[in-house]
Amino acid sequence: MKTQQYFAKDANETESFGESFAKGLKGNETIALFGDLGAGKTTFVRGLARGIGIDSAEISSPTFAIVHEHEGKYTLYHYDMYRIESWEDLDTTGFFESVGRGIVVVEWSENIKNALPDDRIEINISAKDDGRLFDISYPEGGGTE
Ligand code: ADP
Ligand code: MG
Repeated sequence: MKTQQYFAKDANETESFGESFAKGLKGNETIALFGDLGAGKTTFVRGLARGIGIDSAEISSPTFAIVHEHEGKYTLYHYDMYRIESWEDLDTTGFFESVGRGIVVVEWSENIKNALPDDRIEINISAKDDGRLFDISYPEGGGTE
């Protein structure tokens, strides 16, 4: 499995990292984000959105809606699985239908680990010093250069 690390010293760097990460996507990937409250998941998605031509001001945490859908160069399905507790809950969100139809990015992937597709990109975000460390792993045969 290919892995990569990136350190973002502030929120602007998290956003620009998200933006450049987006440039390497084909448009049908599932990106599973892991990390605590305040890790920087939504900030990363804001940059990712900009990278595919979506106004980053549109991006907010879909905590209550569970999913926000945005149209850019690709469709962006932005999930927040914080409140998902069962397979039935997940099924009602449309998650299974959206996988493969656009870029699916998932906050609180911890809560749906068993339901994530095998070929997902995983990004773990953790606080380090005053910034954030991104640990990225790409599935076999996938990912970017
Ligand atoms: P999450 O969605 O994981 O709960 P947010 O994206 O809402 O987290 O970010 C939480 C806070 O962390 C925000 O105030 C954001 O500006 C800040 N932040 C994001 N990236 C960094 C970074 N690389 N260094 C320091 N603070 C950051
Ligand atoms: Mg968030």
